[in-house]
Amino acid sequence: YVAKESTQLSAWYSDAQEASRLSHLSLLSDLRAAVQNDELQMWLQPKIRFNDHSCYGFEALVRWQHPQRGFISPAEFIPFAERTGYINHVTDWMLKQALQTLASWQHAYPQLSIAVNVSTKDLRDQSFPERVHQLLQQYQVKPENLQLELTESGIMENPGNAIPLLQSLRNIGIGLSIDDFGTGHSSLAYLQKLPVTELKIDRSFVINIDQQASTQRLVKTIIEMGHGLNLHVIAEGIETEAERDTLISLGCDSMQGYFASKPLHGAGLQNWLIHLADSIG
Ligand code: C2E
Ligand code: MG
Ligand code: MG
Ligand code: MG
Repeated sequence: YVAKESTQLSAWYSDAQEASRLSHLSLLSDLRAAVQNDELQMWLQPKIRFNDHSCYGFEALVRWQHPQRGFISPAEFIPFAERTGYINHVTDWMLKQALQTLASWQHAYPQLSIAVNVSTKDLRDQSFPERVHQLLQQYQVKPENLQLELTESGIMENPGNAIPLLQSLRNIGIGLSIDDFGTGHSSLAYLQKLPVTELKIDRSFVINIDQQASTQRLVKTIIEMGHGLNLHVIAEGIETEAERDTLISLGCDSMQGYFASKPLHGAGLQNWLIHLADSIG
């Protein structure tokens, strides 16, 4: 990782950017420390199936509470971690957290899955599937309980590279979800070749969908196409009852969003697990 980081950093060097370069340098060393000292946190947001209202799993979302800078959003530090080549360590940390949690749920909640977000950069590393396989064995977790979310744009950046890698992951038995679907210019030809199990409709289509007939037609088409390819279809970012009801009427399988629950951690997560059966009416 050292070589990659220094190439990237020297590319930023210019007088005008000196200040930001220095602050990024310290951010990078802070991120290293955060990973090493477990200052990051894994929050879990429930995924709910419409047909029986059951929670079948969670998406894992990273949180960073910086000792001086305060909360740093993943939308800010994930792209930064990608540029500096440090993202692999963040992914590894999240995978370990997810697997540790799944291992601890094995007896009480064997049906629950956790979905970890994987960066485009991870998809360029040919040894990634072997790494995931190793970790599954180390933590003694069934591959069916782990899911990986890959963005549509990340896959489409280099499909020739990504497809065999996805196939290796799929062969292990892990669920694969196309995240932010509808924003990444994938062609039907490629979609058919992707060895994935789930389509995740991007939140931009979900916002106020109850008031937009044209978005409803588009999303209906996406859902029918997903079902035609035998994929589970979930919508992200559902905030209102009206959005939820519209997605149900369009045939969507599941939902994730503030309407069901915000991402959970600690006592909030424990409370959710205790009330799993009667969680969502
Ligand atoms: P994403 O994978 O599409 O995750 C969904 C984002 O939408 C999360 O933001 C989640 O908190 C937020 N969200 C969920 N429901 C709602 C809702 O009803 N309304 C609104 N307004 N937002 C909702 P978050 O946690 O800030 O993450 C942002 C992005 O950062 C993620 O988008 C993902 O691309 C990336 N990210 C987060 N954690 C990780 C990680 O561990 N690894 C990688 N590579 N990327 C991550
Ligand atoms: Mg995601
Ligand atoms: Mg998403
Ligand atoms: Mg999204």
